[in-house]
Amino acid sequence: MSSPIWHPFTQHGLGHDIPEVKSASGALLHTKDGRDVIDAISSWWVTTHGHCNPDIIAAIQNQAAQLDQLIFAGWTHEPAETLAASLIALTPDNLQHVFYSDSGSTSVEVALKMALGYWNNIGVKRDRIIVMEHSYHGDTIGTMSVGERGVFNQAYNALMFDVDKISFPAAGHEQNTLNQLERYCASGNAAALIVEPLLLGAGGMLIYSPETLKAMRDICTAYDVIFIADEVMTGWGRTGTMFAYEQADITPDILCLSKGITGGSIPLAVTLSNAAIFDAHYSTDRSKLFFHSSSYTANPIACAAANANIKIWEKPETRANLDALCARQKQHLARIAVLPNVQNPRQIGSVTAIEIADSKGAYMSELGPQLLAFFKANNVLLRPLGNTIYVMPPYCISDEQLSKIYALIAEAIDRFAD
Ligand SMILES: *Cc1c(COP(=O)(O)O)cnc(C)c1O
Repeated sequence: MSSPIWHPFTQHGLGHDIPEVKSASGALLHTKDGRDVIDAISSWWVTTHGHCNPDIIAAIQNQAAQLDQLIFAGWTHEPAETLAASLIALTPDNLQHVFYSDSGSTSVEVALKMALGYWNNIGVKRDRIIVMEHSYHGDTIGTMSVGERGVFNQAYNALMFDVDKISFPAAGHEQNTLNQLERYCASGNAAALIVEPLLLGAGGMLIYSPETLKAMRDICTAYDVIFIADEVMTGWGRTGTMFAYEQADITPDILCLSKGITGGSIPLAVTLSNAAIFDAHYSTDRSKLFFHSSSYTANPIACAAANANIKIWEKPETRANLDALCARQKQHLARIAVLPNVQNPRQIGSVTAIEIADSKGAYMSELGPQLLAFFKANNVLLRPLGNTIYVMPPYCISDEQLSKIYALIAEAIDRFAD
């Protein structure tokens, strides 16, 4: 069967088969050829409460029949107003404005434009963005520019803008990172720092300490540098708290959210900002307005799905269930951590990761595709990052399903480690 579809991050030339999924429920994907596949990575980090959550589906159905789509420049609707009020209530007091868009990448583009717009509109020349090594913020030109450079974006280098990069604050090397940050902030032209709080996802599930995050926030405050938290992946419970910044007891100036905002059901993103950034765009002068929009900004159906997601979070059992999952993940990780050829076992909240010993350990190592094929053949959706295997399941996953995932990982370690 040949399809005209060009899939993302897929080398079609390698001839891998592309299974068709007919339906999904909870942590399971049901394929057309009759298999049940355990979704151990939440369909690329988006599905939080499980696939086809009945509350979210009902909200989508009701909203779709009432108001499907609306121009959002100069118009508004109830689902967007309700959601904005809920987001403001869920986040620190200094975040007071909500800008809607439709993907994590866009929410980051918006954040960068807000930061640069702020300095421009108050008439101060600051235009450098400080970024962290190994970060991932999306695949558009702007978000690639603030992310890690490598084989993934080398072809587009000519279009990417220059940034100031601080090293990843690995345990024992935190002060080095903080010194670099302070130097860039002190240079006088730093507009903003953008970071993934506590957990760098696509960069290899790298974890750093809340103390370091707090120290980074303090340096930005001291030099008046805008602190952008990209919680596109870490938000909505992934790191054990609703948002990762809570663990460092800090408040970002700009916050990007997407992925789990609709429980992973349909696309939506938001960029929250503090009052100063909004106020710098507030004027009778039209040239100071915030020049950004996408066609589906604040789509009512997506907002309704997000409102249903927030209602689910208001139920006490949702948090209790997440806590229980974090504890179960800890037990499973402890069991495989002691196996030979397992390196750097680590966990934050609902996410665990290990590395399999591999002399060529990099993203392009041959181990990645081999592991992917092995897991796929055994009906578990895991997508290793090079030799890093991570488990980031929907919160509804059962004990039995989690056990199967880890049994298979143990088998893979045995089979593929060198
Ligand atoms: C996934 C991700 C993005 C990009 O989100 P998309 O919806 O895929 O555009 C941005 N930042 C982080 C931290 C992410 O994990």
